[in-house]
Amino acid sequence: MVNKHRVSIWVLGDQLLNKHPAIEAAETTHGRGSVRIVMVESLRRVRRLAYHRKKLVLIFSAMRHYARRLQTEGYVVDYQQTETFLEGLKAHIFAHGSAHLYTMAASTYGGRRFQEARLADALDLPVTVLPNTQFLSEHYNPYPDPTPGKRYVMEHFYRAMRRHFRLLIDEAGDPVGGQWNYDKLNRKRLPKGLTLPEIPRFPPDEITLKVMKEIEDSGEGFGKLAGFDLAVTREQAQAAFDDFLTRRLADFGPYEDAMSRDHTTLFHSVLSPYLNLGLLEPLNLARAAEDRYRAKTSPINSVEGFIRQIIGWREFIYWQYWRTMPDILMANFWGGNRPIPDWFWHGKTEMNCLQHVLSRVLEQGYAHHIERLMVLSNFCLLAGLDPIAVKDWFTLGFIDAYEWVMVPNVLGMGLNADGGIIATKPYIASANYINKMSDYCQSCGYNQKKRTGPQACPFNTLYWNFLIKKEELLRANPRLGRNVLGLRYLDDAERQAVIEQGEQFLENL
Ligand SMILES: Cc1cc2nc3c(=O)[nH]c(=O)nc-3n(C[C@H](O)[C@H](O)[C@H](O)COP(=O)(O)OP(=O)(O)OC[C@H]3O[C@@H](n4cnc5c(N)ncnc54)[C@H](O)[C@@H]3O)c2cc1C
Ligand code: SF4
Repeated sequence: MVNKHRVSIWVLGDQLLNKHPAIEAAETTHGRGSVRIVMVESLRRVRRLAYHRKKLVLIFSAMRHYARRLQTEGYVVDYQQTETFLEGLKAHIFAHGSAHLYTMAASTYGGRRFQEARLADALDLPVTVLPNTQFLSEHYNPYPDPTPGKRYVMEHFYRAMRRHFRLLIDEAGDPVGGQWNYDKLNRKRLPKGLTLPEIPRFPPDEITLKVMKEIEDSGEGFGKLAGFDLAVTREQAQAAFDDFLTRRLADFGPYEDAMSRDHTTLFHSVLSPYLNLGLLEPLNLARAAEDRYRAKTSPINSVEGFIRQIIGWREFIYWQYWRTMPDILMANFWGGNRPIPDWFWHGKTEMNCLQHVLSRVLEQGYAHHIERLMVLSNFCLLAGLDPIAVKDWFTLGFIDAYEWVMVPNVLGMGLNADGGIIATKPYIASANYINKMSDYCQSCGYNQKKRTGPQACPFNTLYWNFLIKKEELLRANPRLGRNVLGLRYLDDAERQAVIEQGEQFLENL
């Protein structure tokens, strides 16, 4: 029976916001007594891809904690576990007789289309979809009408965001410290003997332990479940951020691109899992980091570097996602067509860098940015892997993966499958870069200086093979001139040797 005074709010699992706009809107109009909140765990969604087990625990535990918090605040929460979202919503409307559904726009293309185009008909009631408040670029969009096919540069987008939100901007409207960008100070290798702070850990409580048991019993998922210690509440996520501000922000900048055999994170924040779930808000993080600069406890290059990640890269990626979907899913500029190698699933390879990074993905569902870009996706691009297979692998491998962030980062930044719409050049590199920024090569069976022969590092063979095979396309890109110039030093015999060794390696991938 429909109760014309009752309204429901559907809170999606990655919208665990402190101030949820749909809850606020419904409550203001109808009063708390008339409001019902519905949250749905979709079992089909879980089975669609073998997601990382730690990610499944993170999402379901955070959702259940959020539901409990709302209950303690006096809301009636209906927590559904059904095959699909629609089944859960239908069961809820049938049980509670609500006359209206409120929700906040999903961060993903398919989810938003479902809310806007199908939900009202499917539930046979009016649906109000409120604007998404998780991203700053939903509120202020520097380029509301982008020209199709035009290349937009992150740096310009970022400066517009900084100006608008007045972050690290002085009274005259200029960047504090006189520069917009301190990247040149932020490319250091990790020195030997530097002590790295531990990342805070949050032992599982009874809710998390129950989710862990359910995931274990279901047999679903990829990667290691044991040792789950991520934050699952707003308070814990805030504690993780406070710890970063106090113990890591000051050194974040210099070592953000460095990689280490012994450490998964250096001074990285490891906040993406919480930001992407709505447990932390980007503007709060950026302002708190700026406060540390103003209080002179963290230097400008680290603070600017962190703010650049949060309101520059993260927002730019989200903006690019909406700009390029759904066409980007068909993009394959470099023609990659190979499947993911088997060893990507278990991490057993002689390549020391990949072996370390893959084992981190299996264990923790995390690797830091440069490992994702310059080790994993660099390899996938050089080896000609199929872009959609790579995107799917990343999606299930990482605890912070959602479509809005995965599609532009993997297809655009990592694989340049869009031909340079999102990133102006393909991020390809030989072992030289990996050796410069890490200690992986020191204990690798391959020789980082060789490109052919039994000991040659596969990154080198594949890099030169890629340059030879794609020379014409690469030459057309002005930002890659220097890379292609290196081909001058290869005579015909060397080119042939690279091609043969590259092909042999790829055949046995
Ligand atoms: C191939 C590839 C795949 C990626 N997949 C994901 C993903 O699934 N989920 C995800 O959140 N990020 C992804 N990223 C971006 C970035 O690598 C991670 O956000 C970052 O490594 C998370 O670790 P952190 O919190 O310690 O980041 P930090 O280095 O401490 O940076 C701070 C924050 O900046 C934001 N950020 C920085 N760069 C980006 C970016 N390119 N895109 C979005 N946010 C960014 C993140 O929220 C991050 O938490 C990917 C990058 C690449 C190249
Ligand atoms: S030598 Fe090559 S494979 Fe080995 S760690 Fe260095 S880059 Fe990786």
